[in-house]
Amino acid sequence: MVPIEQACFWLAAMPQREVTRLTEATTADIVVIGGGLTGFWAALFLKELDPSRDVALIEQGVAAYGASGRNAGMLSETVDHSHSLAIQHFGGEEAARLARLGQTNVDELLAFVQERGIACDYEASGRLMVALTPGHVEEAKRTMEVAQSLGIETFKLLNREQTQAEVHCPLYLGAVEVSGGGILDPAKLTDGLRREAERLGVRVYERTTVEGIEAHGAGVIVRANGTTLSAGRAVLATSAYTHHLVPSVRHRFIPLYDYIVVSEPLSPQQWAEIGWKKHQGITDGRTFFNYYRPTADGRVLWGTSEATYYRGNRVDPACDHSPSHYASLKESWNRHFPTLSSLKWEYAWGGAICSTTRLTPFFGTALGGRASYGLGYTGHGLGTTRLAGRILAHMALDRSSDLLDLSLVTKPPFPYPPEPIRGWAVDAVTASLRKVDAGESPNLLLRTLDAMGLGFSS
Ligand SMILES: Cc1cc2nc3c(=O)[nH]c(=O)nc-3n(C[C@H](O)[C@H](O)[C@H](O)COP(=O)(O)OP(=O)(O)OC[C@H]3O[C@@H](n4cnc5c(N)ncnc54)[C@H](O)[C@@H]3O)c2cc1C
Repeated sequence: MVPIEQACFWLAAMPQREVTRLTEATTADIVVIGGGLTGFWAALFLKELDPSRDVALIEQGVAAYGASGRNAGMLSETVDHSHSLAIQHFGGEEAARLARLGQTNVDELLAFVQERGIACDYEASGRLMVALTPGHVEEAKRTMEVAQSLGIETFKLLNREQTQAEVHCPLYLGAVEVSGGGILDPAKLTDGLRREAERLGVRVYERTTVEGIEAHGAGVIVRANGTTLSAGRAVLATSAYTHHLVPSVRHRFIPLYDYIVVSEPLSPQQWAEIGWKKHQGITDGRTFFNYYRPTADGRVLWGTSEATYYRGNRVDPACDHSPSHYASLKESWNRHFPTLSSLKWEYAWGGAICSTTRLTPFFGTALGGRASYGLGYTGHGLGTTRLAGRILAHMALDRSSDLLDLSLVTKPPFPYPPEPIRGWAVDAVTASLRKVDAGESPNLLLRTLDAMGLGFSS
């Protein structure tokens, strides 16, 4: 199997560079574990809030090795998975607040990227949520109504002709067009944040796996590479891997492996056949949907949320590839764009999305408050990790912030059952959702979970 550093289109394009490993015992005021977007945003906010703090960050691979370097690069303003879900979980007022927060967050993220000269191929293309069935068209209308009820003005309903005029796909019956957000290269973004963090004095140790973290006096001690790092506080930005260090979070999330393929560059004629002049990131209305976008060098990235849960919350390189997913991804491309079925696919990889029963992140502390964690963004972490970084920095510095009173910070999600029931439950829900995608009505299991406000998605 091709190693992820070569298999993933974004990671393969990253220039080789020297990295610093942790090789001898050291100390820091605050240690951040995890060199993805959450970790680097947390480090940057720590420095912004208190530039005098000595911050160290430890990453097992290189920056962007995790989901942050493997995702589809579709930046959205979504913090809550969907507005109706946010209303169900947190009430109308907080759902409206989350929607506003999501918009401000993306504006601030883009301003930061521009101001600090982080080149990440951002295109303000917005996104399309396309309808493939009459049921999706009805759902799109409901999405519009909910957005309007929350005062969101960036959503617009498109009919079949308008949608197909944007992207010439015969399967489209309509869409919700969202003008906020766009597409970018997520590995370049993450690595740009790393460079900025280092410029501000954050010590970044890469290729250094934290094997354990324990309370030590008033602070923590981190064991890695046969040596230690002692710190006053820790921020765990380890997403789908967090249970390796804090086993008690295992019942709050499941890692779901999503898979992606990237094509060869399309010719100008092939692009003319598809249209897609605005380069929107696209998702469809199914539970197990396709998501796709063009790349800056004229390829198509084609992904699926038909995710795999590996029993026991497994996350390791053996899960990075799935030939059956790659085959069905190619088939689904051919169904959408039959005239371009000869397209060759040059990259294929997977990554773990961290999902909770409410499909929004959660935050908590471990080791008697010495360590804080935040994870569970489902497929919306590109933007939400910045908010999480801010929240975690405030938690680590014991600073107050209006973000800390958000329900998604104060309330944990409903837990998943332990194994082996968890694995059976995921299988049963997956099978039921597949039937809904095939046109059946939700069965009793799904109706019960829905009534309890519990979801399943990557
Ligand atoms: C296939 C896929 C497609 C996606 N598409 C999108 C999208 O289009 N838009 C969007 O908004 N979101 C998307 N997401 C979600 C998004 O990528 C994540 O929510 C986000 O990157 C999470 O960032 P993070 O920093 O919390 O986690 P990660 O990026 O996973 O970072 C955690 C880091 O911790 C490190 N680590 C773990 N354990 C240890 C340890 N013991 N010692 C040292 N280091 C450790 C890992 O190596 C990793 O680098 C997608 C995710 C995947 C997998």
